[in-house]
Order: sequence, then structure tokens, then C-alpha cells
Amino acid sequence: MTRKPLLAGNWKMNLDHFEAIALVQGLAAELADMKFDYSSADVVVIPPFTDIRSVQTVVDSDNLQISYGAQDVSTHEAGAYTGEVSATMLSKLGVSYIVVGHSERREYHHESDQLVGEKARVALAAGMTPIVCCGEGLEVRQAGEHVNHVLSQIDGAFEGMSAEDVRKCVIAYEPIWAIGTGEVATPEDAQEVCAAIRGRLVELYDQTTADTVRVLYGGSVKSSNVAEIMAKEDVDGALVGGASLKANEFAKIANFNG
Ligand code: PEP
Repeated sequence: MTRKPLLAGNWKMNLDHFEAIALVQGLAAELADMKFDYSSADVVVIPPFTDIRSVQTVVDSDNLQISYGAQDVSTHEAGAYTGEVSATMLSKLGVSYIVVGHSERREYHHESDQLVGEKARVALAAGMTPIVCCGEGLEVRQAGEHVNHVLSQIDGAFEGMSAEDVRKCVIAYEPIWAIGTGEVATPEDAQEVCAAIRGRLVELYDQTTADTVRVLYGGSVKSSNVAEIMAKEDVDGALVGGASLKANEFAKIANFNG
């Protein structure tokens, strides 16, 4: 089973809409210089909400093959939910992917596995692909409980979801101790947990589902380490934070095979 690699850049709360335009144009130019083959991998940028409309304009007007996502979504469709953004609003802006359950949302906004699952369903219902994040903190890893911890997050987020819907999701394993710290998990660490996630999908669903879902690694991925991580059998891509803010660096990450 070949799964198309997915390289997604999570900009977090960085860049205004002018800077967003420059970064997407720069990324497209870098990829063109590298003669990047868009059939080899999906390239996705995930800007803050305020930049999405500008990113859409660049992508549409320059006819780019770069996709874009959002960093969160409301579980509500409309109404008195100050500060929230609905799935319909995002889908009308051409958003293809929605990150749900990033560790920063879990930590600062107390998002539970159940809420993460609800957000994934809302994204799916609006025709977008959820990138469901999971990952353990340092203490859990040091206690050797990382696999159990991540699998319980998977169980919680996917509870009650049909195999058909799960197949449309992407999962991102992001050990919290490796996010933004410069401390990257070894390729073996990434493989261990990504393989365990796939194994859980076999248990919860079936082999076809497990073979279909793309499982990404995230945590201090750079152009210098992406190839060895991507070489692992169960790692289908990367969710990239800091290194996605530089056009040349993120283009090199997308072109990891080049
Ligand atoms: C992230 O925010 O999802 C992430 C992996 O960040 P970084 O690449 O900076 O560690």
C-alpha cells in the first residue's frame, strides 16, 4: 500500500496576511526552482485564520498546487460563539485540512480527546480532512507509557467514528517534548509510535483502514532530519512548525526525496 506523503506546515500564531502572501509565493518559487514534482507529495500550509483568505487568493490566482488548512475549528455551525470559526466558513475559503487537537490547544484550551473527535467529525462533515494530533509529554515518555498514552488518545478521538470516515483522516504523532524544542525524536521513536497507531487502527477497524490512513510525525522536523524520518515504514509525512516559516527550508522539507 503506498500512501502519498504529506508535508504540512503549521505556522501557529505567526505572520500577518502580507507576510503570509510572501511566504506562499516564496514557497511556490522555491519548489519551482527545485522542479518539485507535486505528484510525489502533498504540500500544505496551515496559517492563522486571518491569513487564510490571502493564501487562497495567491493559490487561486497563481494556480498553485499547494493546499492550505486551518489550525482549529468550532464544533458549532453558527450562533453565539464569540471568537469561534465554523467548518462551513473554512470550507468556503477552500480550506482542505483542519488540525484538531494540537498539543497547544489541548494544553492552553483544555481540549479533551472527545472534543478533538467532535472537531474531526465537523471537519469531515464539511468535506475537509482533519489532521488529528496526539502525543505524550516528557514525563509520560520517561515513564515508558508513551505508546499507551497515545493509543488512549486515538481511542478517545475516534470513538464511534465509522471506518469510512476514519479513512479520510490524517493522524499526526507529535511528542510534546519534541515540539519547538529542537529535540527531535529519533526515527525509531517516530516509527515505534506511528506503527502502534496503525496497529490500533487494525484492532479498532480493519487492515484496509490502517493501510489507508496517513500517519505523520511532528516535532522539530527540519530539512536536515526529514529524510531519515520519512524513510520509516509507518511515517507518511511531517507536521512542521518552526521550519515551515522559511520558504527555502520548508521547500527542502517537501522535496525530501529530491
Ligand atoms: C508543531 O507545532 O506541530 C511542531 C511540530 O512544531 P516544531 O516543528 O517547531 O517542533
